[in-house]
Amino acid sequence: MAIEDDVLVIGGGLAGAMAALSAADANEDARVRLVTYKQSTLRHASGLIDVLGYAPDGVSASNASGGSSDSSDVNGPLTDPFDVLDDMPEGHPYERVGSEAVREGLALFDEVVGDAYAGAHTETNALVPTHGGTVKPTARYPVSTAAGLASDDRDALLVGFETLPDFDAPLAAAHLEAAGVPFSARGVTIPFPGIVRDDAKVTRYAHLLDRDEPVTTGAGETGAREALATTVADHLAGESRVGLPAVLGDEHAAAVRADLADALGVDVFEVPMGPPSLPGIRLEDRLFEALEDADVRVTSGVPVIDYETADASRSATGTGATATDGGTAGDDRIDHVVVDRNGTEIPHRAEQYVLATGGLVGKGVRSERDRVFEPIFDCYVPHAADRYDWFVDDVFGEQPYARFGLAPDRELRPLDADDEPEFSNLRAAGAVLGGYDFAAEKSGAGVSIATGYVAGRRAAEEVGR
Ligand SMILES: Cc1cc2nc3c(=O)[nH]c(=O)nc-3n(C[C@H](O)[C@H](O)[C@H](O)COP(=O)(O)OP(=O)(O)OC[C@H]3O[C@@H](n4cnc5c(N)ncnc54)[C@H](O)[C@@H]3O)c2cc1C
Repeated sequence: MAIEDDVLVIGGGLAGAMAALSAADANEDARVRLVTYKQSTLRHASGLIDVLGYAPDGVSASNASGGSSDSSDVNGPLTDPFDVLDDMPEGHPYERVGSEAVREGLALFDEVVGDAYAGAHTETNALVPTHGGTVKPTARYPVSTAAGLASDDRDALLVGFETLPDFDAPLAAAHLEAAGVPFSARGVTIPFPGIVRDDAKVTRYAHLLDRDEPVTTGAGETGAREALATTVADHLAGESRVGLPAVLGDEHAAAVRADLADALGVDVFEVPMGPPSLPGIRLEDRLFEALEDADVRVTSGVPVIDYETADASRSATGTGATATDGGTAGDDRIDHVVVDRNGTEIPHRAEQYVLATGGLVGKGVRSERDRVFEPIFDCYVPHAADRYDWFVDDVFGEQPYARFGLAPDRELRPLDADDEPEFSNLRAAGAVLGGYDFAAEKSGAGVSIATGYVAGRRAAEEVGR
């Protein structure tokens, strides 16, 4: 017996979650399901929602801050991504969906995250200091980072922990000052009360503060929040804000920050860290709560491994014409996909499908010695035949592999080698799409939100037609 839904989203990262939420929002009668396998990149990402920090090559970035307006090789940081979103190169995901869809996707994201995120009041990028002391142009940022913005001219004390070497606060402060921020930054490194092990997980710091566990310091036994505030207070020298690594609580992060700020008498902010990322984990939690609220059925921990078209002429493993040859033999409508639940193959049937399985990092796109491919439907992934053309020697150069992914039409249906939709009822969203370099452009979350929004909406609108 197949499990039946109207819209089936494959992949539980930002793109898949947004696609499922958008489908549920567009058609409240539609039965929407999200099937996902392993952890998504949200747990590695900073939790910042970058829409576009740097324009792709060839796009005039006259609004770049710090660059001359007539210099075409100045790509950013962009002050306002929307100034260039209508000029994106053909095939870029933003060009496919259009700038209005970016706005609408962000509006849905804002609704979902509520007051956990800031930045919705303007289309201008905010500049958020990160753990390396760089300043990141970003469209939405966790409210925990808000007091740290680089546009704020209040002096800042950055505090790192001896047992958390990923954040070198004195170095980060020096980098910020060298970058010309309009405030003075100073960094210190302190022990974290209650933690002595170098290999403590970031969640250990967060839970100590969440539960305000008793810890013993030279001053005796107190709650972890008070102990941390007391240790930091010894280093304050007139600064009116303090930045700490983003480990300040998980479930009770707002209360932890408020208690620290009260005790110190200054604003407290988090500095986004590398993986694993608590702001990313908090965002993932929020998205999955929203999926539950929207009655989206979620099936986690299981991979989609196969599919079959209505007349069984195409499948990833079966006989008949396969997608490998870009052929469209038989019916090009996906009838069902196959989910592997502990070795048992369960068919899942839906009217519409959204593929949001991630890129090369998330394994939604894979590469072997001589080919780059999409492993579930074997959708066409444009790439040079010669693998030596997949990268350039200059490590700082534009790397072709960074843009590998599916090429969709404006409905976000993946196209085959002849520019025809692979399937009439399959759309794709997020990092599985090609044509953009999220790391260079700082556009990862923005593309996932905009394309997830469009793919989910279009899929839901097709239900019952
Ligand atoms: C280290 C790192 C840091 C980043 N930092 C930032 C940042 O600061 N700001 C920003 O805007 N962006 C950042 N990004 C980019 C951003 O995280 C991604 O571009 C974006 O979130 C991709 O989301 P996605 O949903 O498309 O894919 P993913 O997050 O990769 O999710 C794909 C999901 O699909 C599931 N899946 C895969 N195959 C199957 C299958 N066969 N069956 C079922 N499920 C499957 C995976 O298990 C996973 O859960 C970062 C990315 C990385 C890797």
